[in-house]
Amino acid sequence: MAYQCPRCGDPVSRNYSRTAQMAGGLVGALFMAAFGSFGCKKCGKISRGEFPAEVRNRMLLGSVGLVVGAVVLFVVVIGVIAALR
Ligand SMILES: [Zn+2]
Repeated sequence: MAYQCPRCGDPVSRNYSRTAQMAGGLVGALFMAAFGSFGCKKCGKISRGEFPAEVRNRMLLGSVGLVVGAVVLFVVVIGVIAALR
C-alpha cells in the first residue's frame, strides 16, 4: 500500500506515532496508521489534501480496512478475556 508524493513522485509512508502506540497498544497503532498523516523522505509531511482525489479514495478504503482490522482485533481480545473468566 504505497502512495506517491504529489510533489516529487517518490513513495510516501504513513507516519506512525510512538506516543499512540504506547497509549493504545496495537489497536492505537492501527488507528494512527489509518488516520495519521503521510510523510515523504524528501518533502517531509504531506497533508491528505495534497493528494489527488483518486488517491484519497484509495487511502480511505485502506483506512477503513485498518479500522475494521482494529475493531476485529479488539472484539477478539474482549472475547478471549471474557472466555478466561
Ligand atoms: Zn516528495
